[in-house]
Amino acid sequence: MKTPFASQAQLEAIAARYPTPFHIYDEKGIRENARRLKAAFSWNPGFREYFAVKATPTPAILKILHEEGCGCDCSSEAELVMSERCGITGKEVMFSSNNTTVEEFRLAGRMNAIINLDDITLIDTLTQALGQVPETICCRYNPGGVFTVGESRDGAQVMDNPGDAKYGMTRPQIAEAFKRLSKLGVKNFGIHAFLASNTLSNDYYPALARILFQLAADLQRETNCKITFINLSGGIGVPYRPEEPENDIKVIGEGVKKAYEDILVPAGMGDAALYTELGRYMLAPYGHLVTRATHEKHIYKEYIGVDACACNLMRPAMYNAYHHITVLGKEQAPHDHKYDIVGSLCENNDKFAVDRLLPEIATGDLLVIHDTGAHGFSMGYNYNGKLRSAELLLREDGTVTQIRRAETLEDYFATVAW
Ligand SMILES: *Cc1c(COP(=O)(O)O)cnc(C)c1O
Repeated sequence: MKTPFASQAQLEAIAARYPTPFHIYDEKGIRENARRLKAAFSWNPGFREYFAVKATPTPAILKILHEEGCGCDCSSEAELVMSERCGITGKEVMFSSNNTTVEEFRLAGRMNAIINLDDITLIDTLTQALGQVPETICCRYNPGGVFTVGESRDGAQVMDNPGDAKYGMTRPQIAEAFKRLSKLGVKNFGIHAFLASNTLSNDYYPALARILFQLAADLQRETNCKITFINLSGGIGVPYRPEEPENDIKVIGEGVKKAYEDILVPAGMGDAALYTELGRYMLAPYGHLVTRATHEKHIYKEYIGVDACACNLMRPAMYNAYHHITVLGKEQAPHDHKYDIVGSLCENNDKFAVDRLLPEIATGDLLVIHDTGAHGFSMGYNYNGKLRSAELLLREDGTVTQIRRAETLEDYFATVAW
């Protein structure tokens, strides 16, 4: 069973001040989770998490994570500017972009961010942008083929298809890139790969680490380039369904440590720092989309209309993703009504749930849609003239701060010529 991080009474009081729908984040949960991650990798002295800003591009959230020791992983101009305005710059920023423009490299260079090159041709774009190369650089690797981590204890299996992904360099290209960059003056190198998304297996990071550590050892020997860090990127998942297993970050940290001791230490690379770029794992469980039931409709199926729509949370419409729903105050009632929970877009995929067994819902009930803290608000859009909602922060002391106001019609019209 999934339990909301705020009570019905709390959320009703909040909804009386801030109209639904809204996204709300749990500061306590965010901080505790960030500390668990840090503890799990504390055996590596250089460890740093660079939070994937695209997951939740909200300054108040970036600042909380920064206080917990996290930097920012950015991939666009706006994300770089947001990090800078939050006071997060220099080596606390990883710029993991692709299809990158000269202007973006200039900005990343001016901020002294660590640049993660997605492609060998970007060496030219980078030198054009900066007139030189930075002292430290990262290159993104794509091993191609199909990536699998075998059946683990809990039955979770991870499979993805790097061969179909647009990211990263091939094995020959990354060696060539290292040599060229070294000639141009780069002193410190890093490597990065992102092989699978939303993994529910404690084996994913250790398996990825083995691939990257071996690559690092081989590349350093082949090219004589000094590899000072390895970036394990994102991809650790969260159980969106209540019956799914939760990752154990402590076990993951130990699995990566074992790989480090097996491969990097014997290669004389026991001083390499480890970086992560987690997004979903850092934030998803600590955000709720709170919405109110506004209509019921009985035709060939039973529908409950709510005041949120896919513009507030795109994942169900886009990926058919499951998001758990709690009907506040009815947690103990029998879940014997089969509903489609729908928004008001003129799009039939605007459904938060299809054929979901829930307690009987009355107009006016508050619904919590779970695990919306990452890739939730951030994937919002304005279709049908829908306005973006507010974002609220439930503080550790129980008070609530509005960290982004809801859009108004004036915002919506601000860019048009009449
Ligand atoms: C999206 C992304 C991440 C974060 O992914 P999660 O699945 O949210 O952990 C990290 N690094 C890069 C380069 C990304 O594009």
